[in-house]
Amino acid sequence: MGAIQDQEIVAPMVVHYAEKIMFPSKRFKKICVFCGSSSGKKGVFSNEALNLGRELVNRKIDLVYGGGSIGLMGQVAQTVKAGGGQVCGVIPKALIGKELTGNTVGELIAVPDMHSRKAEMARQADAFIALPGGYGTLEELVEVITWNQLGIHRKPVGLLNVDGFYDTLLTFFDKQMEEEFFDSSSRSIVVSAPTASELLDKLEAYTPILAKGPKLCWEVERPCKLGHTTTPIAGVGQ
Ligand code: AMP
Repeated sequence: MGAIQDQEIVAPMVVHYAEKIMFPSKRFKKICVFCGSSSGKKGVFSNEALNLGRELVNRKIDLVYGGGSIGLMGQVAQTVKAGGGQVCGVIPKALIGKELTGNTVGELIAVPDMHSRKAEMARQADAFIALPGGYGTLEELVEVITWNQLGIHRKPVGLLNVDGFYDTLLTFFDKQMEEEFFDSSSRSIVVSAPTASELLDKLEAYTPILAKGPKLCWEVERPCKLGHTTTPIAGVGQ
């Protein structure tokens, strides 16, 4: 695993930052954003992806993301890079041709598989935000929620509920709690807000509820034959 290229942004974008005073985050240096590899039907999804990028820049928070140049992923990355923020993409080698159709933005780390991608993004980030997206976004979101529930990390998870996109998912989380598949402390792992600015304010104020039992560590291991020892190469950490 290593940085395979570091290119300057080439997509021309008009991004307005100058009018806004920067308030650096007291808590976060880098946030991981999960989002669609498509832009979705409504323009409001792209608008909020750009707003999230601007908010990250204004708060001097760097970005780690899936590394793609397409959909909402590409839009957030380009906005952060254009505003002077650091951008790190983490992409499985097999997806480079599929999700990197244009020029990459910032640093790009190629990893062997999806688990390594999520583990590397989780290791780098201080918090997670999910914008609207498809199955991939949902999978990534739920995985970091469950890692928090298991005590693998204590980093907050934010749902950017643009135009009510995640209302039904939030209702389902409430249903899971009501039916006692988890308790209120697990439900409180996920915070949500309709705008990037409100969501970042909530994440800044978030108090983690400590998982019961010993802290677990998710180590990324090199593939091995059963019965042989494995070599840890990275941990997600706190
Ligand atoms: P989507 O929301 O389906 O457009 O996908 C958003 C991102 O999630 C894309 O970069 C996909 O490569 C990624 N993705 C899809 N499946 C998985 C998975 N099992 N684990 C991690 N990322 C995934």
